[in-house]
Amino acid sequence: LEPAYAFMIRTRTPGGVVTPAQWLQLDAIATRYAERGLRITTRQAFQLHGVIKTELKATMQAINAALIDTLAACGDVNRNIAVAADPQPSAAHAAVQVQAAALSARLLPSTRAYYEIWLDEERVASSGGEEEPIYGDRYLPRKFKIGFAVPPVNDVDVFAQDLGFIAILGEDGALLGYDVSVGGGMGASHGDPETYPRLGSLIGFIGPDQVTAVAEAVVTTQRDHGNREVRKRARLKYTIDDRGLDWFRAEVERRAGFSLPPARPFVFSHTGDRFGWSEGGGGRLQLGLRLPAGRIVDGRLDGRGEPVRHLGGLRAIATLLQAEGDGAEFRMTPNQNLVLANVPAALRARVDVLCAEHGLDGWRSATPLRRNALACVALPTCGLAMAEAERYLPELLDRVQALLDRHGIGDAPIHLRVSGCPNGCSRPYLGEIALVGRAPGRYNLMLGADHRGQRLNALYRDNIDEAAILAALDPLFAGYARDRHEGEGFGDYLLRSGAVSVPERDIRR
Ligand code: SF4
Repeated sequence: LEPAYAFMIRTRTPGGVVTPAQWLQLDAIATRYAERGLRITTRQAFQLHGVIKTELKATMQAINAALIDTLAACGDVNRNIAVAADPQPSAAHAAVQVQAAALSARLLPSTRAYYEIWLDEERVASSGGEEEPIYGDRYLPRKFKIGFAVPPVNDVDVFAQDLGFIAILGEDGALLGYDVSVGGGMGASHGDPETYPRLGSLIGFIGPDQVTAVAEAVVTTQRDHGNREVRKRARLKYTIDDRGLDWFRAEVERRAGFSLPPARPFVFSHTGDRFGWSEGGGGRLQLGLRLPAGRIVDGRLDGRGEPVRHLGGLRAIATLLQAEGDGAEFRMTPNQNLVLANVPAALRARVDVLCAEHGLDGWRSATPLRRNALACVALPTCGLAMAEAERYLPELLDRVQALLDRHGIGDAPIHLRVSGCPNGCSRPYLGEIALVGRAPGRYNLMLGADHRGQRLNALYRDNIDEAAILAALDPLFAGYARDRHEGEGFGDYLLRSGAVSVPERDIRR
């Protein structure tokens, strides 16, 4: 008798877009097979936790029957492509989403093994019968992440991506092309100066028709030159730092077959999500909903006795939108929230009632701190976790909020992020306040990132517990309450006041 092994399954959903019908199917699959409901990841994918080994294949087949796959959602390949989630009334946004989905398909491994193993497709070759034009015979040295941002919102944290595309729009809102950023990445290891978070570097501007060529050039350059000896140094950011940005740009230009003119100006205003109803263009509406840490469950969310029925509520909304939504869609955000997009205005009141009945309107009363907070899954699910993140977040937010309230700045829009280990799945190094797990109950306190995703934070206190974290924040909140300029973010204040300093290499202006 073997132990009851349980697994996590992650979907590939470029840009996090699913139809109401797909939402209902995923809900049914999670309810049937997963232990802890659905979870939205910071890459706009679904994770199903606690799928037992004997039901893995049935679960995978059910997901594929919903016309969603899990191919390349893990592994040393291009992962789920992140796309700006807020479908603002802009034709450019739709064009970017289509382009991202096409690139996701282009960068899939061509092996049929996935279909043979999980979907019972007939085996075509025992060896040598398949070609991998992008990945070759060894795949990439490490995972690879791509994101598409549409300014002024940087919800994808484009400079945290191995390869980032920043949409450049004309005065009429049309898509002119993209600035290209390379070499972003969050992961690091405690106590190892050879590893570090890094913001992507801009290497130029491209037209919309050059995206595939540039992406292939970047990916294959990393395939051929990435570090395969030391796995901790196998991400693109280290290849670029080891060989130099000029070398990398030249190599990409050589492979793509054209040169890259200088990047064009853009302005990001923030990395957060928009909550509540807004115009979506064409007489349609969109509704941003807050889902703490992306967890979608019925019952008790955080052990504090507050019942929520998010799974049931979204099921009811999906049923309504499937029947009468006429093209409405669910769009997961890179901040683990949800946008109901393209909703007919006539359905607004009924959606509001369903949200109120199921506790999905928490965004109305949530403070900015709670609205913007992010946490990775960590314990008990992630085998790499050194400390709590998702389960600890509600408690932590209570205490930090109380501290802010005490200083009279409870409405400060501070971005707080928690990760259970330095791999940084919740992109903690871009949080104005971030906790990075060291050991149970102990964290590195990182401070000083901005709101725009253009400045990393810096280590402020090493390996401290909650009491020390709050004690460290207390005088900083006092100073912020007293001395902040109008509209100044907490991270910006920390730099201006000299409480924190961030090296120039960790800033993208
Ligand atoms: Fe990622 Fe580490 Fe959090 Fe696990 S504990 S989800 S590896 S950041």
